[in-house]
Amino acid sequence: MRLKTEVLVLGGGPGGYTAAFRAADLGKQVTLVERYPVLGGVCLNVGCIPSKTLLHVAAVLNEAKEIKPAGIGFAEPDIDLEKLRNWKNNISTQLTTGLAALAKQRNVTVIKGVGRFISNTQLLVEDGDDTQTIEFAQAIIAVGSQPVKIPSFPNDDPRLMDSTDALNLERIPKKLLIIGGGIIGLEMATVYHALGSKITVVEMQDQIIPGCDKDLVRPLMQRIKKQYDNIFLETQVSHIEALSEGLKVSFGSASSELANDKGKDTPETEVFDKVLVAVGRRPNGHLIDADKAGVNVDERGFISVDKQQRSNVKHIFAIGDVVGNPMLAHKATHEGKIAAEVIAGMATEWQALTIPSVAYTDPEIAWMGLTENAAKAQGISYEKAAFPWAASGRSLSMGRKEGVTKLLCDKQTGRILGAGIVGTHAGELIAEAVLALEMGASVEDLALTVHAHPTLAETLGFSAEMIAGTITDLLIKKR
Ligand code: NAD
Repeated sequence: MRLKTEVLVLGGGPGGYTAAFRAADLGKQVTLVERYPVLGGVCLNVGCIPSKTLLHVAAVLNEAKEIKPAGIGFAEPDIDLEKLRNWKNNISTQLTTGLAALAKQRNVTVIKGVGRFISNTQLLVEDGDDTQTIEFAQAIIAVGSQPVKIPSFPNDDPRLMDSTDALNLERIPKKLLIIGGGIIGLEMATVYHALGSKITVVEMQDQIIPGCDKDLVRPLMQRIKKQYDNIFLETQVSHIEALSEGLKVSFGSASSELANDKGKDTPETEVFDKVLVAVGRRPNGHLIDADKAGVNVDERGFISVDKQQRSNVKHIFAIGDVVGNPMLAHKATHEGKIAAEVIAGMATEWQALTIPSVAYTDPEIAWMGLTENAAKAQGISYEKAAFPWAASGRSLSMGRKEGVTKLLCDKQTGRILGAGIVGTHAGELIAEAVLALEMGASVEDLALTVHAHPTLAETLGFSAEMIAGTITDLLIKKR
């Protein structure tokens, strides 16, 4: 079968479907190719949405436990894993069904199958024994990424999981090791701990969530240190042996000078019921025969693009995880709109000043703009305030006081440069800081904005007041 289309979108994740829908809304005739039977990609099916669904469950379980000092006691939870799995899947299905309807309403042709380029104007799509060729005038590559596997591990053993397996909730292991203290590792640790697993985390850097400022990570670290069996930093797993009683894990130091030593404070070996490997994701650029279309893919699998998402081939664009870090759905959707608009003849390009990051741990951590680490590394002079949530009535009323809201601004102009928040709902709160940065707001703008009381959002106003010298909720000594 042969099919002709104006715009071909390869990959139906958040980046791909957004690009397809925007191009269709701009009058283009669009074909969207997706290898799985449903749209939504990793995010809706085996990523953001199912993990947030389970994190909500974790939050309910934790809150029920932690409300005890207030005089409210609940019985031990009765966890029906099959029901929970169905509930989680049902939420993803509601969203993916909605996407299918949206595609139909826009006359976007959705084709199921694995696509590979055969020239710079043709894509071959295979679905079992069915094959068809699609001829396109312009294309958008949105093929995403996949979890990094460590080749020396027993990857065929079902007790060794990646994030997709972990979200399947096949069973709750008694003892779970998580390799990688990044966002996936720590979000899954939050879920499995709440469901009753004993957790150990191994991270090769000297802090968890290494991209984030240390002071923002500290409140999370202090909380999970008490909850989890162990958090081993500067440590790697050197070997995993599959035994009938469990996975026997050997630890090693992450430092090359100490390559033969075991890691910091780690045992030589330990047996776990399950191991989750969450050491990053790698782009899928090598899976699509991009060379046949003349599109350059670097050795790691990334496709480089300009500010308009154009690859080295003028009529082929790329977006999302496959064009580089950060591998975040909200970056992909933004890029998808740019690519679609450029294809439709609009003078769009990437202009956003920041892409916020959120770890949906407990407490959540969110940051945007300039981090303090980056400011120091780049020699940027800045002024900073960190408002402690122990002085926030709203936070205390929720039984929590470990949060911090940090603001960085330009020393001369007071213009907001960056912000980081750790605490309950930090992921929601960061939006105000992102908007402030995009609007070129100053500390004074934030400090003079009336924030509702009592809210967690007002901690952003308070941190601005700390820099402006107008705060009354804390006593700041005059310099
Ligand atoms: P990551 O890069 O965020 O974290 C991986 C961690 O593993 C790092 O801390 C790294 O130092 C560590 N590591 C690497 N190799 C190791 C080894 N051999 N032993 C021990 N530690 C090792 O990757 P991830 O958590 O797998 O997430 C993948 C991608 O998905 C990231 O881009 C992430 O931003 C994105 N993601 C985002 C969210 C979110 O926005 N909430 C959620 C999940 C995933």
